[in-house]
Amino acid sequence: MPDSSRLEFAVARRISIQGVVQGVGFRPFVFRLSQIHQIQGWVFNGNDGVEILAEGRNSDVDAFLMSLGSQSPAAAYITKVVIREVVPEGLSDFQILDSRCESTPTVRISPDLCICEECLRELRDPSDRRSHYPYINCTHCGPRYSIIKNLPYDRPNTTMAAWKMCPSCQHDYDNPLVRRHHAQPIACESCGPGYRLIEGDLTTDENERAIRRAAELLATGSIVAVKGLGGYHLACDANNPTAIAALRERKFRKERPFALLVRSLQEAHQYVVLSKSHEQLLQSVARPIVLAPAKIELPLVSPDNSMLGVMLPYAPIHHLLFDFGAPGPLVLTSGNRSSEPIAYRDDDAINRLTGIADAILIGDRPIARRVDDSVVAVRNDKPFMIRRARGNSPGVVCELSTVDPILAVGSDLKNAIALVVRGQVFVSQHIGDLGDCETDGSFQNTVHDLLAMYEINSSELTIVHDSHPQLTSTRFALSLPARRHIAVQHHHAHIASVLAERNLLNERVVGVAFDGTGLGTDGTIWGGEFFVGSVCDGFERCHSLRPARIPGGDAAARYPVQAAAGFLAELNNLPDLTKLPFHFPKRFTDATKLVETKLRCFVSTSIGRLFDTVAALVGFLRESTFEGQAAIWLEHQAGQSPPQAPYPFPELDYRPLLSAIISDRLAGRPISEIASAFHAAVVTATVQKILQLCRDRTVNAVVFSGGVFQNELLFKSLLNEFERHPEICVLINQQVPANDGGICVGQAALGLLQE
Ligand code: ZN
Ligand code: ZN
Ligand code: FE
Repeated sequence: MPDSSRLEFAVARRISIQGVVQGVGFRPFVFRLSQIHQIQGWVFNGNDGVEILAEGRNSDVDAFLMSLGSQSPAAAYITKVVIREVVPEGLSDFQILDSRCESTPTVRISPDLCICEECLRELRDPSDRRSHYPYINCTHCGPRYSIIKNLPYDRPNTTMAAWKMCPSCQHDYDNPLVRRHHAQPIACESCGPGYRLIEGDLTTDENERAIRRAAELLATGSIVAVKGLGGYHLACDANNPTAIAALRERKFRKERPFALLVRSLQEAHQYVVLSKSHEQLLQSVARPIVLAPAKIELPLVSPDNSMLGVMLPYAPIHHLLFDFGAPGPLVLTSGNRSSEPIAYRDDDAINRLTGIADAILIGDRPIARRVDDSVVAVRNDKPFMIRRARGNSPGVVCELSTVDPILAVGSDLKNAIALVVRGQVFVSQHIGDLGDCETDGSFQNTVHDLLAMYEINSSELTIVHDSHPQLTSTRFALSLPARRHIAVQHHHAHIASVLAERNLLNERVVGVAFDGTGLGTDGTIWGGEFFVGSVCDGFERCHSLRPARIPGGDAAARYPVQAAAGFLAELNNLPDLTKLPFHFPKRFTDATKLVETKLRCFVSTSIGRLFDTVAALVGFLRESTFEGQAAIWLEHQAGQSPPQAPYPFPELDYRPLLSAIISDRLAGRPISEIASAFHAAVVTATVQKILQLCRDRTVNAVVFSGGVFQNELLFKSLLNEFERHPEICVLINQQVPANDGGICVGQAALGLLQE
C-alpha cells in the first residue's frame, strides 16, 4: 500500500542519463545520493544509459538532481540528461534494479580505467584483504572494454564469468554502500584469477612469488613479458643498455622508439620536459603514453628523436612490479615481433614471445580483445592524439545527425574504424597496418565485434571506404553486404576528420592535407594538397606540391634515396650524387634508370616523400624501418640549429629548393642548418598559399591534417605564423589522430553527406 501521508508532499521525476555512465560506479553513486537526500525510487542500466526514478519532497528531489550533475564519478562522462515529471507512486525505498536489455544498445561502453587512489592504497596496505592482489579494482577503476564480451556490462558478459565470487567479495558486490557495489570484475586472492611466471621449464604459480621473481629478473637485466590490460608488454630496465640492445635484437625492432614506464611524475620529470598539459594527460584515467621533449639523450631507447614517450603505471601489476623492486623506469613495449599486432592470448604469447622474453608473467584473466597503449602529444596546450587505443576506445568522438548506422573502415595504414550508431561516432582502438595476416584478422574481428556489440546487421549499413580499390580495407568493405557502399578520397577524409570532430560540417575552409600517400581523384598519388570547400559541399583541389614521378611502388616509402630519385630527376645540372658528400647507394642509380624509362613509376604530390628526399640529401641513406622515420630524423637535425632563413619554394615548386640544398651541401653548410632552412621553406610556402586562398575565396578558417603534421617543429612554426593573422581560425585534430588513424571519422562524415 502506498503511504498516503508521504504521497501528499511528494514529487517524482524520471531521469535518463546518457554518456559514459556504465561500468564507472554510476548506479552506486546514485544510490548513495538517494540515501543522503532521502529519495525513494530506483536506478538501472538501460540500453541508452542510466535510468532513474526519484521520488521525494520537492526540495530533496531538487538537491538530488543538483548533486547528480555536479558530483558524478571521475570516470563518468555525461552527454545528455532528460528529466520528465511523473506521478509519484509512493515508493518506500530506493533500489538498484537489474540491467534491462530491450532495443538496440547505444550505451557507451567505458574504456579501460587506471587503478584508482583508494585501490592503490589497499594494494599497499598489508592489513587489507586485497593487499598485493594484482586484479584489485572497484567501480571507479579497472578493466572495462578489454573484458566485455557482450552488453549490458554485467559479470556474466565479461571474461570474469568463469570465477565465482567468494562470500566476502559477494558481500562487497551486493552492498550499495561499498565502493565495489556492482563492480563487475570484483575479485580477491581467494576467489579470483592470479598471475604465474614461466621461466624456461620452471613455473612459479603462487601469485605474489611470481610477481616478486619477475621484478627480480627485471632488476638483473632480463626481459620479461608482462600481461597488462589490453595485451602483453615486453619490459626491461631502461638504464641497462645490454638489456635494451637484446630486446631490439630479439624483437627485430632496430630503431623505432620505445616508451618508458616511469614510477612517478617526479621520475618522468627527470627524462622529459613536461608542461601542465603533459602532466594532466599523464595522470588522466586513460593513462596514455605521453610524447614530450626529451631532456636527456637515450640513444638506445629513442634514437635520433627529439621526443620521448613516457607513461605512468596504470594496472595494479605495474605498481606491484615497482613495489617489489623492479628498476624504474622500465622500457615497456608491445609484446610482439616487429610489425605484428600485440599478443593478448596466453597460448599465443607463450608461442610468440618465448625467445624474445626470458620469462613470461601470465595473468589468468582473459583479455576479450587486444587494445594497445594510447599515444598522445600536446599541441597548442591541448591533447593531440597520435594513437587512439586503451583508455580512449571505444569512446564517442563526436555526433552526426543520422539515425542510420554507418561503418567507416579507415585506410590500410594505422587502421582504426568508426561505427555510427544513432548519430554517435564510436572509434575503435588502433588496429595497425593492414596487409599482414594477423592484423587483417584483427581488423575483421574489430568490425564484427563492434557490429555485434551494437546489434547491427551489416545489411542495414552504409559502409564507407577509401577510394583506392586495392586496399585491404576497401576490399573487405566491399565484401560485406550493405545497404550501400561509398568511396571517399583519402585526403578529403583527413580534412573532414577535423571538421567532424568540431561539428563544423558546413564550415568553408582551406584544407591542407600533408601526408605520405593516398589515391587522388585524378588517378595520381596525392599527399601535398590544398583544398577549398566544406564537408557538406565537398572539397575542390586548388593547389598541390609540384608532382614528381616516383619509381618503384611501395619500396619508395621505405627507401628515401628511391623517392629522391623521382624528385631529383626533375632538376637540371645534377652533380654525381654517388660521390661525396652525398654518397648515394646503388639503389638510387637503379631508381633513376626506372624514372628515365618511366616504367613502374607513379606520379605523386606527396610531401612525405619530399621530406624523405631532403633527408637523403643530408645523409639519411639507409632504409626507413618505420613510417616517418626519415622525417623524424630530419626534424631532429633541424632542432640542433637556430632558425634559418627559408629556401626558395615558390608555389610549392621543389626544384629551386632542392637545387639550393645541393649547393649548400657541396659548400659544406651544416646539416642541421639545411634541415632547419628546409622546414622554414615548407612553412613559408604553405602559409603564403593559405593566405592567398583565404583572400581569393573569402575563407577565414584553415584545417591541417595528415601524418606530416605530427612533425612538431613544422606545426609550431605554422601556428606562430598564424598568430600574426588572428582573422584566420586554425583547426587541427584533437581526439582522433591527424595520421591515417583518424581517417575513419572523416569518411563517416563524408559518407553521411553523400547519401
Ligand atoms: Zn578502484
Ligand atoms: Zn573474493
Ligand atoms: Fe593519410
